[in-house]
Amino acid sequence: MDPRRAVPRTDALLADRRLAEASGRLGPTLVRAAVAAAQQRVRDGEIPPDAAVPAVLAGLPARSASLRPVINATGVILHTNLGRAPLSDAAREALAAAAGCTDVEFDVATGGRARRGRHALRVLRDAVPGAESVHVVNNNAAALLLVSTVLAGSGREIVLSRGEMVEIGDGFRIPDLLVSTGARLREVGTTNRTARSDYAAAVGPETGFVLKVHPSNFRIEGFTSAASVQDLTGLGVPVVVDVGSGLLAPEPLLPDEPDVHSTIAEGADVVTASGDKLLGGPQAGLVFGSRAVVDRLRRHPLSRALRVDKLTLAALEATIVGPPTPTALALTADVGGLMERAQLLARQLADDGVDALAVGARAIVGGGGAPGVTLPSAAVSMPEAYALPLRSGDHAVVGRIESGRLILDLRTVPPGDDALVRHAVLKAARA
Ligand SMILES: *Cc1c(COP(=O)(O)O)cnc(C)c1O
Repeated sequence: MDPRRAVPRTDALLADRRLAEASGRLGPTLVRAAVAAAQQRVRDGEIPPDAAVPAVLAGLPARSASLRPVINATGVILHTNLGRAPLSDAAREALAAAAGCTDVEFDVATGGRARRGRHALRVLRDAVPGAESVHVVNNNAAALLLVSTVLAGSGREIVLSRGEMVEIGDGFRIPDLLVSTGARLREVGTTNRTARSDYAAAVGPETGFVLKVHPSNFRIEGFTSAASVQDLTGLGVPVVVDVGSGLLAPEPLLPDEPDVHSTIAEGADVVTASGDKLLGGPQAGLVFGSRAVVDRLRRHPLSRALRVDKLTLAALEATIVGPPTPTALALTADVGGLMERAQLLARQLADDGVDALAVGARAIVGGGGAPGVTLPSAAVSMPEAYALPLRSGDHAVVGRIESGRLILDLRTVPPGDDALVRHAVLKAARA
């Protein structure tokens, strides 16, 4: 008999109750793809025809979207490749509540239209005493784009220190972003030193604003100096400061990291920041400033193109008013507690035959801020061979490799996920 005739037909397989259920949950596309793959295996003689349905079920993904959850055991608190800040439970609940129809732009009391994002804007403004007004856009790059367009578009100048011409990552450079708006860059000072007088000499009728950019991912040491925000007030032009990380108030553990509140208190007219770095929220760009300037930003046509969706607004509000974010908890976790977790986990794994040891480690904040700062941490060390199976699991665990060992740094792992890590390692040991 032609073996191809034994291949179960697509419609017969799709009629199976379990596959119909999977199709209802995951959508028909993924189920059809798994059916086609199982049929090919029957055709190739790899599995018998009556094993087709179990093979389809085994070949189905866990969910419709292919982005999978990852446990960040890298020791990099804000890992851009892993989606930067993980959201708090409060923010996740807010996301879920806003996912359907929601009153994002509707007043349930009057039944009429309401200001979009009013709740998130109010809590943000309340969180930064001294900021008259706030605007939220897609990310900090969008915030800089909007500020540059409105305050220096049509060929006016942005005065910027040569020491603050930052590449953010993946080849994106803030100076390129600024000139893409039609503004011209007026570079002042040198890579290592820029004084108030350099700015003062450059400011003139062509100036749109003076910009300070926080060098958030590198450090220049040695013979250096930079003008403070305060130094730049009184030049007769707006002072715009990109603080990067989104700290709203000073963080004692990161004394060199600028925050929005202090920067406004020093006299900045506009401050921009990211939502998904040290603020610990969703991707967003925050623009704080005087009511007059923020109203001009909000009314510009670009604002419509840069606006955030209801999900971002919901998660942002919950991040601000909710309990400490996973980012804040990772930053402030006590190293003694981390070492206790590492010892317990290593002991449990060793009891199950894994070559696991608790070791001291150094964690970092990551691309989101505080370059050069390391935080004492604790990790579980195991053979490097665990790295690939741990990364490939349905709930992937990503660590870092050091001297031929896989290091799972617990500073970036929420304590509630230790059991998941343990199960993932045991599964990898059996693989
Ligand atoms: C990260 C960063 C940006 C870019 O922010 P996004 O929110 O990723 O667009 C801009 N400026 C500074 C100083 C940064 O650190």
